[in-house]
Parts: sequence; C-alpha cells; structure tokens
Amino acid sequence: MSPRIGVMTSGGDAQGMNAAVRSIVRSGIHQGAEVYAIYEGWQGAIAGGEHIRHLGWSDVSGILNKGGTVIGTARSAEFRTREGQLKAVENLVHNGIDRLIVIGGDGSLTGTRALCLGWPAYVEELVTTGRITAEQAAAHPHLNIAGMVGSIDNDMVGTDMTIGTDSAMHRITEAIDAISSTAESHRRTFIVEVMGRHCGYLALMTAIAGGADYTFLPESPPRPGWEDRMVEVLGRGRAAGRRDSIILVSEGAADREGEPITAQRIQAALRDRTGEEARITILGHVQRGGTPSAYDRWMATVCGAEAVRQVLSADAQSEPMLVGVRRDMVNTTPLLAAVEATHRIGDFVNEGDYEAAIHARGVGFTTMVDIYRMLSEATPTVAHSENAKRIAVMHAGALAPGMNQLARVAVRAGLDRGYDLFAVKGGVPGLISGDLQEVSWSDVEGMASTGGANFGTRRYVPVDADLYMMARTLEEHRIDALLVMGGFHAYATVDLMEKERRRYPAFNIPIALLPASIDNNLPDWPMAVGSDTALNTIVRSIDMIRMSASASKRAFVVETMGRTCGFLPLMGALAAGAEKAYLPETGITLEQLTDDVTALVDSFTSGRSFYLTVMGEEASKYFTGDVITRLFEAEGAGIYSVRDAVIGHIQQGGNPTPFDRINATRLAYMAISNLDRQLLNGSTDYVAASSGAPGLLAPLREVSAGMDWDNQRPNEQWWLKVRPVFEQLSRRPGQE
Ligand code: ADP
Repeated sequence: MSPRIGVMTSGGDAQGMNAAVRSIVRSGIHQGAEVYAIYEGWQGAIAGGEHIRHLGWSDVSGILNKGGTVIGTARSAEFRTREGQLKAVENLVHNGIDRLIVIGGDGSLTGTRALCLGWPAYVEELVTTGRITAEQAAAHPHLNIAGMVGSIDNDMVGTDMTIGTDSAMHRITEAIDAISSTAESHRRTFIVEVMGRHCGYLALMTAIAGGADYTFLPESPPRPGWEDRMVEVLGRGRAAGRRDSIILVSEGAADREGEPITAQRIQAALRDRTGEEARITILGHVQRGGTPSAYDRWMATVCGAEAVRQVLSADAQSEPMLVGVRRDMVNTTPLLAAVEATHRIGDFVNEGDYEAAIHARGVGFTTMVDIYRMLSEATPTVAHSENAKRIAVMHAGALAPGMNQLARVAVRAGLDRGYDLFAVKGGVPGLISGDLQEVSWSDVEGMASTGGANFGTRRYVPVDADLYMMARTLEEHRIDALLVMGGFHAYATVDLMEKERRRYPAFNIPIALLPASIDNNLPDWPMAVGSDTALNTIVRSIDMIRMSASASKRAFVVETMGRTCGFLPLMGALAAGAEKAYLPETGITLEQLTDDVTALVDSFTSGRSFYLTVMGEEASKYFTGDVITRLFEAEGAGIYSVRDAVIGHIQQGGNPTPFDRINATRLAYMAISNLDRQLLNGSTDYVAASSGAPGLLAPLREVSAGMDWDNQRPNEQWWLKVRPVFEQLSRRPGQE
C-alpha cells in the first residue's frame, strides 16, 4: 500500500495555506503517496467520516489564489482532552494515515506534538478496547509529523517568515497608504490597530513600510511618560513638514505595568495634550483576508514540497520537524525547540524582560526597531556642524519600485548622523552634468509608499569621456561619499569607477552600491529592491488573465520582463500556478516545444480548460512569444484557442510592496552606516550589498566577482533551486 499523508490546517487561517495544501497534495502524488485532507482541523480528525477525504491532482486546481483555507480550520477544545486525542488517533488509523502535515500556529503545532508523543500509548489502548485491530496497530506504530507555520503574526522562532505574514502586510500597507492620503488632506492624526497579540512584527514592519510616525509593540512597552514623548515626536514631524500623523499599535501592546495600550487610550492621551481628536481604524480581519501575495504563494509551495519529503523519509527515530524559511531558502528545524523558544518569548514579555524578548526575535528585528526609531524622529542624533561632510545619493539603471524608499531612508539616516545630503538628479547623466541638489528631511516625506524614482534614473553606463566630468562634479560639490542604488547599469558604473580610481583622485571616496532592479539579476543579494513588487504585479495580472479565460477553453502565453534573468518568469509561474515556464538561462529548443505542444493538446483533450505558459522576454531569440502562440494555435484547431499577453511596463511601476519597502529600508540604513564609519576612520572603500557579510556590505570586488557580465546576471542564482518543485507541481505524473 502506498503511504498515506494527512494534511490539515488548524487554528487561525492565513493566506497561503491553500498554496501549501496544493503543493502537499501534488508533491505527495509525485512521490508515490496518497494524500488525505482532514477538514476543519483537529475537529475533523475527531469527527472522522466525511471529514477525512482523499484529494486528487485536480481537487487542488484553482485554489492557489484563494485566501483562507479550502479545507477549513477550527479551534478544538475537545482535542485538548485525552478522549479527544484518542478519537483522532482512531480515525487516522482507520484511514491508514500515520504521516501528518499540520499547517497552523504554535497552538496547533504544540497539540500536534502532544499527539505524536502519545501515539504509541493511544494505539495500545485502542487495541485493548477493541476499537482498532492488532494488525492496524502493528501497521501504524508511530506518527510522523511535519509542521508548517500558518500565522499572519510571524510569531514563530525557527522560520524567518510564517505563511500569511507577507499578505497581511500587504493588507496593512494598502490601508495605511489609503489612510495617509485622507489624513494628509485634512492634516489629521490616525491611530491604526493591527493584529499581533504577542508579536509586534506586523506593527513594526508596516510602520516602516508605511512611513508611520509612532508605533507600540508588545515586546517593547514604553516607559512611563510615553504620552508626552509621543506628542513631542509627532509635533517634531509636523514642524519638519509632515501633514499627517499615523500611529500604529499592535493589539497586544501594553505599558510597563501590563496595562493594555489601546487605540482609545492613545486617542485620549492625544486629546488631553493637544486637543486633537485622532481617528481610530481597527483593521481586524481584513488582515487575514484577500488573495495571498506572491511570496506567500511560492514560499508555501516550496515548503509544502519539503514537508512531504520530510514525512515520507521519516522513521520511528525521526524528530518532528518544522518546515520554514531562512534567507529565502527552505529550512527545517526541530519542531519542539522552535515551539518552546516561541513560548519563552511570551514568558519574557510577561516577566517584564523586554530586552530578552526583543533579542529572542533575532537580530533582524532588533535592527529594525533601531532603524524605525531613527526614521520617525525628526531630530538628528548627531549635532549638525557648519562644515559637515557631504554624502550624495544617486540612482542608476532602469526604474525599480522601492527606489524612493531607498533614497528616503538614505537621506534621513545621513541627516540623522549630521551629514549634508545631496541628490544626484537623473542618474549617471546627472552626475556627468553636475545636476545635484541638497535635500532635507521633509524633501523625502511621503516617499516610502510611492513607486517611481523622484530623483530620476537612467539606463546609462559612462564612457571614458564621461569619467572626467563625473570626477569634476564630485570635486566641485565637495562630495565626500557616494551611495549608488540601481540595477545592472549601477553595478557596471561603480565597477568602472573603481577600475579608474588611479586616474581620477575624486573617485577616492567611499562608495556604497545597493541592488534595485525588478529583474533580480544582481549578485550576492537574494531579492533586489523592486523584484518583489514586479513579481506581485505578474501574479495579479495572471490571476486576471485566468479569470478572463474561465468561460472558454483557452491557452495563454504570458510574457514577463526580466531580460536575461529568469527570476520573474520562473517565480511568477510558480506563484501563479502555471503549467510551463521558459527561462533565458535554459533557452527554448524545437524538440522541447514539440513535447510541450503534445502536453498542451493532451491537457485539453483530457478535460482541462486552461493552460498557462509563462516566458521571459529574452528566453529565446527565435522562439518569441508570438511564434510560440502561433505554434500552439496551429495544433489547437477546434479544441482550444490561444492568446498571448505581454505584461509590459506595469512591472516597473506601481507602489512598492511592503517587502520591497522593508528591504530598501534595511539596505539604505546599512549603507549609510558603512559610509559613516568610513568617513569617520578615513577609509575610501567601495562596498556593495552582500547578504552574508557583516553589516550586509562586502568589498565591491568580491561582489562583482559573482557577476556574469556577458550575460548580465549573477553566476549563482539561488532561485533556480526551486525549479524542480515547479516542474513537479505543474505536471501530473504520467503526463509527458
Ligand atoms: P494557533 O494554532 O493558530 O496558534 P490555537 O492556539 O487556537 O491556534 O490552537 C489551535 C488548536 O490546536 C486548538 O484549538 C487545539 O485544538 C489545539 N491545541 C493548541 N494547544 C494545544 C495543546 N497544548 N495541547 C493540545 N492541543 C492543543
């Protein structure tokens, strides 16, 4: 008998759970297992019967873009009892299920582990009482489990992100952006309450992403007198030019006495001190709703495939594992340790050890708390002097959403440390022509949420004759350090400057280089600023294309940007549930096309009504989107029709996603910290973003060495590792 895997979603629902279920069902089928859904969480395991049902390949079609969970979830008081767990074991054994993947919060995973530990004793008892046979008991001596965290709070130790968090951040930032525009018009103050009973991740990250003024987190209760400090900070922001004030509060925020800090309490504090009646918005369940973001779809998909691998390879001695992510790669850790460490954070908060609580959330969280404080306070930490040093910031290369946030954070972080900040207008040509402008704290107000690049950017790499003019500009404006933010052209420009340093003494200043490109084609940084936004645009566009085709039998060939890099077409295809992806890395052959046309025709003749092909714009010089569409059409006469869709420049536009804004924030802050250090100790190094390096920046030479300059993409592309998962999920076994 083939192994049987049970899958359930339990506890609070979260966007992306469906992607996980789809991936588990299809990966399971590929690996020779049968997958059973346990509907309504542990409640369904206890009820048995219709609640435990086999799921086939097509049962999970069309669920990737749905919020919530199609197999239902519940909280079950009965499962906390011995009798409840006994019943659950009985039903699982009757269905031949002894491998289980649970997608839920820390409560659900704690319960799952308890069941796993108790399994042998429960099985024995069930045999003794005649509820299962001795043969059944012998066939299922232990339960193998894997946990995946579905929780919008991102409150679990052992994974960088939990399923649903990114989508919840989308909902919150959309709300903050909308509220900001009305608040700005009326010069109002808004208090926005977000979810997070024990974890301030959502509040902190969306405060950064939304450019909010003040925030309250459970892990960092304010000291007495916080009301006056808050009023002072808001007042300084207004004096520096802000038209609105936004305060974000976690639902679990409290003061040092443990008294909850509610939106109403903040409102009263403001009323007493300023007379202003702040408006309150409680976002509530909106945060759990809506379509999952691209990240939640691909991350849950990749983790689901790994969870299947885990439960199928586990034996009696295997420790239950938690499947999550670390630095954009799937990562497994012992479930028990992760759950215990998570509970410990709650204890730290309850015991008043807030430093320990923040620390336990990891360095990323601590750094973001510091960055947030710096960004929201409109007074420099370092006193400004008459002969302050000067830092220039410049974009280069194609436009990428999030460039404005990079510039905003860099300017504020630089001013905070007492520097004068200059914007180079219009990218490299602006540096050549000397188009520089001094910028103030309020000049970058509102730039957190907007797409585009207010300072301008151009796809231009300087030629030899330009270098002299660039050096002159740096000298004339007495620029002491330069920050360059952009794509391939930015990297090529700074690389050239480093090579020409000996000829141009003005280039002997510290320079930092940060990746911003929707193509995600830059070395040493997993996600260039802008690439997450473009990916979400692709996924949303494909969702719409799918709907447009729902009434007829139709194949679509969708073309994405990405130039010579396959990140957008592959990850877009994975997140949107495409059947086929063509990438520039592997090109397209005639032989492959012949196979694909056969698969396409098979798929329609066997009852499908939609077939999605995603291709990168430079996947092949010869087999263009047009050619492939015609080819598909030629074979489809009478069975299906074919349409092509070029997603086009909207991929470079749009407001940046929360992830791109947060990514930009961290990068710009670290770059300015590096330049600051260099200016203080007199060094003149060229550095570039590097995710593994201390301070997130490494010598430019080391980073450049990872670039395949001819093909304009990095030598190593981490995301190619998810390709086997895509191949597995897009094609039913047996279908060529
Ligand atoms: P979440 O999984 O989102 O944290 P809950 O904490 O409400 O949500 O847990 C969901 C379900 O998991 C509970 O209703 C219960 O059935 C089960 N559960 C939670 N904690 C335990 C526990 N300590 N022992 C057994 N079952 C538990």
